[in-house]
Amino acid sequence: MYFPSWLSQLYRGLSRPIRRTTQPIWGSLYRSLLQSSQRRIPEFSSFVVRTNTCGELRSSHLGQEVTLCGWIQYRRQNTFLVLRDFDGLVQVIIPQDESAASVKKILCEAPVESVVQVSGTVISRPAGQENPKMPTGEIEIKVKTAELLNACKKLPFEIKDFVKKTEALRLQYRYLDLRSFQMQYNLRLRSQMVMKMREYLCNLHGFVDIETPTLFKRTPGGAKEFLVPSREPGKFYSLPQSPQQFKQLLMVGGLDRYFQVARCYRDEGSRPDRQPEFTQIDIEMSFVDQTGIQSLIEGLLQYSWPNDKDPVVVPFPTMTFAEALATYGTDKPDTRFGMKIIDISDVFRNTEIGFLQDALSKPHGTVKAICIPEGAKYLKRKDIESIRKFAADHFNQEILPVFLNANRNWNSPVANFIMESQRLELIRLMETQEEDVVLLTAGEHNKACSLLGKLRLECADLLETRGVVLRDPTLFSFLWVVDFPLFLPKEENPRELESAHHPFTAPHPSDIHLLYTEPKKARSQHYDLVLNGNEIGGGSIRIHNAELQRYILATLLKEDVKMLSHLLQALDYGAPPHGGIALGLDRLICLVTGSPSIRDVIAFPKSFRGHDLMSNTPDSVPPEELKPYHIRVSRPTDSKAERAH
Ligand code: ASP
Repeated sequence: MYFPSWLSQLYRGLSRPIRRTTQPIWGSLYRSLLQSSQRRIPEFSSFVVRTNTCGELRSSHLGQEVTLCGWIQYRRQNTFLVLRDFDGLVQVIIPQDESAASVKKILCEAPVESVVQVSGTVISRPAGQENPKMPTGEIEIKVKTAELLNACKKLPFEIKDFVKKTEALRLQYRYLDLRSFQMQYNLRLRSQMVMKMREYLCNLHGFVDIETPTLFKRTPGGAKEFLVPSREPGKFYSLPQSPQQFKQLLMVGGLDRYFQVARCYRDEGSRPDRQPEFTQIDIEMSFVDQTGIQSLIEGLLQYSWPNDKDPVVVPFPTMTFAEALATYGTDKPDTRFGMKIIDISDVFRNTEIGFLQDALSKPHGTVKAICIPEGAKYLKRKDIESIRKFAADHFNQEILPVFLNANRNWNSPVANFIMESQRLELIRLMETQEEDVVLLTAGEHNKACSLLGKLRLECADLLETRGVVLRDPTLFSFLWVVDFPLFLPKEENPRELESAHHPFTAPHPSDIHLLYTEPKKARSQHYDLVLNGNEIGGGSIRIHNAELQRYILATLLKEDVKMLSHLLQALDYGAPPHGGIALGLDRLICLVTGSPSIRDVIAFPKSFRGHDLMSNTPDSVPPEELKPYHIRVSRPTDSKAERAH
């Protein structure tokens, strides 16, 4: 029987989730081998000196003369070594007879991770020495010739997935880190999903893959952009935060359906799920509405989803922004578990508890709560203290923990002030069980919800570190969030408005009149795609009317319309109605592979602080090289020195 290697499995779409804590060994996808699929396995040995890959050899190859190239994974007692390539591992017998002394010398002396080429015969392993854990475990290679292609010096770390190394070291020697099973797996899975996406978009739905410039100009509003100096004094390019304007202009140009695997840049520092440069599956279509875009994306994910995972179920559920905020305290709810926010204002209308009374006496005051299942059992006193401190420090809010212990006594600082009727009503509304803890806060709706939304996630993490299973790690819970407000108050000046998505987003058709009366109340045709509590995509139906676009930019957003005159002009020349979306590819692959960070699904990522630790980027440039750009660097120390004189 022919057992395809793990790579072939991947090509057949039989990828298996690789858990972080396991020791993914080359060829460990063995158990899923028997699943079948109709997809073609690529020819891995065309055009090159090898005849086969290390990982593909099986009993069906017995007797074949093969040439293999690979890295020495390990050697045992100078009798055999294990050779590795991208496809897996194979055991090579080191010849012991005098006539093969030179082959023996090469194979015994080459350090681990050296690259060698061996030729020999595929033979069966002696009875009892088969290794069922290894896909190639029934055979070994009887070597005739060997060549050391390149020796390896002492390594900064072992190329074994289970050997722990710091991320900084991994990034510094990324080319070595890429040899790990996990990185190979992540990058190959990514490549395959993108391939399927291309197939779906271009071949099945007539999209055109178009590249757009990365040297562009500043876009008003939105993220901070990287600047690139030009040779014209004081003039700069900007690296685009997305191809937004170009994709809209392509619609004006009649391209009808555009897509691009687009590199985007935002100068906002890295976070676990952010990078200064990242990749989007960027899409735009003419003559489409919100449901059209949603169906397209559901189909796209369904089509490109790895076969071994539970199939993507469509259509995805939809939630309004208002509901997401009220129930989960965020616009990207993790719907894999409950602990929803409940409005319990009515329970406390006649309360004697000071801060609740205070809050409810204000016009938009509310009392809200979440119930932590078995919190009394799993949360410690110091957890509750740090929850209260977090609420005070970050939200200026009070949190009241209400314990309901086994003999139904309230064990909370203000328990005595909660009347029996309130207690019963609370239990009914919150559906609390014994051992649950209710976290209660009071204040303005958005603030109370945001705080509880954060605490909901914090407590879920805490419970999970203590062994409670709240979120099924194999579950992928997609959600559309819709009906966002068109504008939000600016953080730095809440009396001014900024776009909730971007300034090209069309208002909700039934709210257009509000733009001229109460713009803050206008909803938009903006939709976000959320997966397990992460925003993995967002888009909108666009404004295709130049006058409306100008009004929003100039009057409501107070932007300089001259910067966008090209777009405004284009809209006036018969722009079709259009809309689009962008999916964050790095985040999506990160979630699919269960990786802890998006850096684990990018070949050469930047560090947390935006540096490439391998090449030491960004780097300084000598002043002569800056001259053509009319730029002079003033270092913080220079100006300090100047001031000192
Ligand atoms: N350009 C938007 C973004 O990068 C996506 C879109 O509206 O299509 O978030």
